[in-house]
Amino acid sequence: MPERCEVAIVGAGPAGISAACILADHGVQTVVLERGEFPGAKNISGGVLYGHDLARILPDFAEQGCPVERNIVESRIWYASNEGGYSLSYRDRIFEEEKRHNVFSVARARFDRWFADQAGRKGALIVCSTVVTDLLRDEKGRVRGVRTDRPEGDLEADVVLLADGINSPLAAQTGFRPEPDPGHVALAVKEIIELSEETVNERFNVSQGDGVTIEILGGVTQGMNGVGALYTNKKSLSLVIGGNLQDFADLKLKPYELMESFKGHPMVKPLIRDGEPREYMAHWLPEAGYEHLPKLCGDGFLIAGDSGFLFNALHREGSNMAMVSGELAARTILEARQAGDFSRAKLEDYPGRLEDSFILKDLKKYRRFPGFLQKHKELFTVVPELSRMAGREMLSVDGVPKKAKQQAIWKRIKRQLSVIGLLRLLFAGIRSVK
Ligand SMILES: Cc1cc2nc3c(=O)[nH]c(=O)nc-3n(C[C@H](O)[C@H](O)[C@H](O)COP(=O)(O)OP(=O)(O)OC[C@H]3O[C@@H](n4cnc5c(N)ncnc54)[C@H](O)[C@@H]3O)c2cc1C
Repeated sequence: MPERCEVAIVGAGPAGISAACILADHGVQTVVLERGEFPGAKNISGGVLYGHDLARILPDFAEQGCPVERNIVESRIWYASNEGGYSLSYRDRIFEEEKRHNVFSVARARFDRWFADQAGRKGALIVCSTVVTDLLRDEKGRVRGVRTDRPEGDLEADVVLLADGINSPLAAQTGFRPEPDPGHVALAVKEIIELSEETVNERFNVSQGDGVTIEILGGVTQGMNGVGALYTNKKSLSLVIGGNLQDFADLKLKPYELMESFKGHPMVKPLIRDGEPREYMAHWLPEAGYEHLPKLCGDGFLIAGDSGFLFNALHREGSNMAMVSGELAARTILEARQAGDFSRAKLEDYPGRLEDSFILKDLKKYRRFPGFLQKHKELFTVVPELSRMAGREMLSVDGVPKKAKQQAIWKRIKRQLSVIGLLRLLFAGIRSVK
C-alpha cells in the first residue's frame, strides 16, 4: 500500500467501486481499502442489480463479462398470511426478447469481485484484507486520510470517500452520521437454496437465462414490519426475510426461526422443494428514509451508499443508489480536484447532485413510508388474516350464497379493524407513497 494517494475509498461494494471506476477513468490516483479477503467476500444482497445504473459506470458491462445470473422478466408481489396469500405479477415481452438487463440477479460475491477488477483495470488500486480503523485529521479537524490495520498503517489522501456500508463506525466518527437507531434499521437473513437450472426454469415458467423476483408482504414476518423475497439465480434461489431491528427485539424473534417458518410457507415450500441449502447470512439494511438522512460530506470526506442511509425501502433499491451516489461523489471530487479545494463548502456540491438525481427525489417522495409501516403493524397481523379469511371464504364452494359470505367478511372486517380504522389505513397508505 502506498503512503499517499489522491483519493482513499473505504469499502469495495457497489458505491466504492463505482467511484473508483470514474476516478480512475480520469487518471486520479485512487486506493480502495476493503476488509474482505476479496471484494464481495463480506457482501450480501438479495441479488438484484439494475442495468441502467451500472451502465452509467460501465456502459458495456454485458460485453465485459458481467456475471449476470438471470435477466428478470417477471416481478411478482404476494400479500400473504401464514396459510396462503394473493399474488400479483407482471411479465413483459420486451424484457424477454430484448434481454435489456433492466433488472438482473447476481451473486454478490462474484459480481463485486468482477466489478472491482474493472476498476483495477482502469488503474485504481484495490487493497483487500485491510480494515480502516480510523480517520486521520489535521490540526483543524479536516480529514486527511485513513488509519488501517496494516503494518504500514496510515494512508494520506486529499479526500476520503466512506463507502463502507450500513455498519460504519467511521461515518459515526465524523460526527455527521449518528449510529443507526434500531427503529431505522432492518435485519435481513438470506439463504441460498441450490436447485438445477432446469428445475428453476420449470418452477418459475421461464426460458434459460430469464428469471423472476417475488416480494412477499404480510404475515410472513410474524407481526414485524418487514418483507420476504425470493429471487431466481442461475442454479439457485435466494430467499430473504427481514424486519425492523427494534421489532425483532420487541417480539423476541430469532432470525433463523423466521427463515425456517418462511421456508415452510405454503407458497414458498413448493418452490424450494428438494433444494440444497448452501449459504446463510445476516446483514443490516438502512431504512431510516429521507427524514433521517445524515450530512453526507464534510471537510475532506464524503459518504456514499448504505453508509449514508441511501436505500429505498419500498422498492428495495440499494445497490443502484450505492452506484449512483458513488458516481456523483466521484464527479464532485473531480471538480474539487480541479479547484484544489476539498473543503466542505466545495464538497457540498455532492448533496446538491443527489438532490437533483432520482436518489433524493425518490427518498423524498417516500419519506413517510418507513413511518407508515412502523405505525401500522396491523398490515403484518390483522390485515393478512382478514385477507386470508376473505379469500378462503369467497373461493370455498360450499353452498353458502355469495351475499351471505360477503356480509360475514364485512362484519369481521368491521369488528377487527373498524370502518374508521380501515379508512385511516387506506388514507395513510396513499399519503405515504404519493
Ligand atoms: C438481504 C439483503 C438483500 C438486499 N437486496 C437488494 C436487492 O435485491 N437490490 C438492491 O438494489 N439492493 C439490495 N440490498 C441492498 C444492497 O445490498 C446495498 O444497498 C448495497 O450493497 C450498498 O452498497 P454499498 O457499496 O454502499 O455497501 P456494501 O455493499 O455494504 O459494501 C461496503 C463494503 O465496505 C467494506 N467495509 C466495511 N467497513 C470497512 C472498513 N472499516 N474497512 C474496510 N472495508 C470496510 C465491506 O466489507 C463491504 O465490502 C439488499 C441488502 C440485504 C442485506
